[in-house]
Amino acid sequence: MPSTWDRFSQRMAELRDLAGAIGILTWDQETFMPKRGVAARSEQLGTLQAIAHERLTAPELGELLEKLAANKKLSGPQHAMVRSVRFDRQRAVKIPGKLVRELAERQSHAVEAWKEAREKKAFGIFSPHLDKLLAIRREMADAYGVPKGGERYDALLDGYEEGMRVKRLAPLFERLKGWLVPLVQALADAPPPRDDFLKRRYDPDKQWLFSLEILDAMGFDLDRGRQDRSAHPFTMGVDPDDVRLTIRIFEELPLSAIFSTIHEAGHGLYEQGLPREHRRTALCAAPSMGLHESQSRLWENLVGRSMPFWESFLPQMRVHFPEALANVRLRDFYAAVNRVERSPIRVEADEVTYNLHILLRFDLELAMLREELDVTDLPGVWNERMSKDLGVKPKNDGEGVLQDIHWAWGELGYFPTYTIGNLYAASLYDAAKRSIPGLEEHIRQGRLATLLAWLREKVHTPGRLLPAEEVVRSATGKGLDDGDFKAYLEGKYGTLYGVKV
Ligand SMILES: [Zn+2]
Repeated sequence: MPSTWDRFSQRMAELRDLAGAIGILTWDQETFMPKRGVAARSEQLGTLQAIAHERLTAPELGELLEKLAANKKLSGPQHAMVRSVRFDRQRAVKIPGKLVRELAERQSHAVEAWKEAREKKAFGIFSPHLDKLLAIRREMADAYGVPKGGERYDALLDGYEEGMRVKRLAPLFERLKGWLVPLVQALADAPPPRDDFLKRRYDPDKQWLFSLEILDAMGFDLDRGRQDRSAHPFTMGVDPDDVRLTIRIFEELPLSAIFSTIHEAGHGLYEQGLPREHRRTALCAAPSMGLHESQSRLWENLVGRSMPFWESFLPQMRVHFPEALANVRLRDFYAAVNRVERSPIRVEADEVTYNLHILLRFDLELAMLREELDVTDLPGVWNERMSKDLGVKPKNDGEGVLQDIHWAWGELGYFPTYTIGNLYAASLYDAAKRSIPGLEEHIRQGRLATLLAWLREKVHTPGRLLPAEEVVRSATGKGLDDGDFKAYLEGKYGTLYGVKV
């Protein structure tokens, strides 16, 4: 008879296989699936998700976990596997099947309504759906259980950023806003750098070739992954040996492909660097969304928008686009990729204004979940906050409260992970610079491998062995904080814009 551990491992492996199959079907849906395949695909995904849920919540797995949790002889990694699966399982069993189905159904209606509302720029079409989703999410938060000394929002946040609490985030975000708002004011009032050369024609095929050169330089292994095109860039990690990235290409917006490549490859390198010896276990995963995002942001912003990076890559880019980049100096190119603008749209925001978009969403979803803000008042409050924090007023709900799909999916508690990622990224890069002598010189020469090796060791290899903040703490000596991010932005943009900050 197989041991308790073997029976548990077998079940854990099956759960990972199911998740992998769901991932591949989802990836295919966004990339190659013919349009009319959507009905069959939803059924396939629905079936697989139901099976995965059934397996995770099966009483036998619960019994195995309880037995193993009491076993003092487990190794560190074994203990972490039991802890992780137990965490996921406890969350899954707490939600009654009826509520899961209700949420799924509401979500699909809400997404349809959101699409229509956004197109017609009419929040009223979406608001009754959001109201219902909020009611379901509140019910779910109560079912998960409010952590001790916490609140409902924490119960949802735990699903993306395990262990993080409003009590930690709210004051940190308040402090962040306190110095970001004046920084944005100072930069946005300064004369903007020229970027006319980024609006010229850049051949899409050549953009694709250049993106592959960037992937290669970053160390993304195309024998263990691939890159394709989709409407919205994303990364799907199925296994360290099968990681799929997607990017999008616009003929007259060359930065879109470049930075979606660098961003998604940052996620992809993390996935390829997860601990192989723990394949088909709960440890071969990131401990939080924020830590995952720290990897994409570190590469995209700290590396990809730095002078050393473009010293190496602008000459390479010029080979593909000699006409569009004729007479464009390195300095001008660097300034253009770091242009700070008051934009109402989050996904177009630069790294200085970006977090203000997130802080606004965090405050509003927190208020809605606390029942302090009525859904019908949302557009007004949104627009007011945009003017106050960012100095820009959305022209309509389409470029205001309706711009993101997250709330239509019923995702509340997800947005803060973007800012957590940005803060972790700044701290990790600062620590990398301190530990790797001559790092910027390596980047200047296009040698990105030393940075990757450091990230592999410090961030990728632990997988889900430790909580996200512990991974960061052991790499940088500190937990979640805005100090390094502040020093980074003020140093970089103060010099670039010649303003005193
Ligand atoms: Zn990302």
